[in-house]
Amino acid sequence: MAEQLSTIVELQQAVDELRAADELLGGIPDWMQELHEEHSERKAAIDALAAEVEEATQARRAAETEINDLREKVKHFQEQIGMVRNQREYGALLQEIDSAKQQINTFEEQALTALETQEEASGRLEEERQSFKDLDSRYGTELEKWEAQKPDVAKKAEVLRSRIEVLRERVPPQILTHFERVMAHRDGKGLALIQEVVRGKGPKIWHCGACNYRVRPQAVVAIQTHGSIEMCDSCKRILYIEEEVG
Ligand SMILES: [Zn+2]
Repeated sequence: MAEQLSTIVELQQAVDELRAADELLGGIPDWMQELHEEHSERKAAIDALAAEVEEATQARRAAETEINDLREKVKHFQEQIGMVRNQREYGALLQEIDSAKQQINTFEEQALTALETQEEASGRLEEERQSFKDLDSRYGTELEKWEAQKPDVAKKAEVLRSRIEVLRERVPPQILTHFERVMAHRDGKGLALIQEVVRGKGPKIWHCGACNYRVRPQAVVAIQTHGSIEMCDSCKRILYIEEEVG
């Protein structure tokens, strides 16, 4: 393979490795993925329970505030009883008191229901928190292990970054621009392997390994003999051939 093409192959490889390293640094490694998911799920369940407790607490407090206000109202009405001037006013006042007392009953029921929910959810929350402790500490240990490995991955990413810069310098600007543009638009792949379609007989047929479009035989020959830079007619990725084939 001619030098330009092999440089591009190497460049693509370094770009791929760097992307994987960067993704790893920004995420969770495979070996602790399962634990991470379990931990996240359990933590989300605990958060949801805590929210349920909070909601019930708020509902109970709101009902209690209403009850207190209504009791004040009743007290106020009762003080007025001594000042009524006729039967009609007396009747109206009694009706007000009655209605306020009914409302108090309704809010008392609400407060009780909220209290029951609050206590029930608090109990479950406490249980969940207890049983989460073990998982949480295991997760903490794994996370520490991963944190200890991170510097190595970061170092590797740095080395790859420098390597990429060196390789980029070696590729003619026009080709580099094309390669990087395709890479940016096509899932980070600016390069495609040519694949020979195996058939019983007849002339050989080649396809672009990325988009499956047919590759002209002249292009295959040009790459094989001169290592020339050829693009896929469809996806525009730069084409290359496995060394042993070429
Ligand atoms: Zn293609």
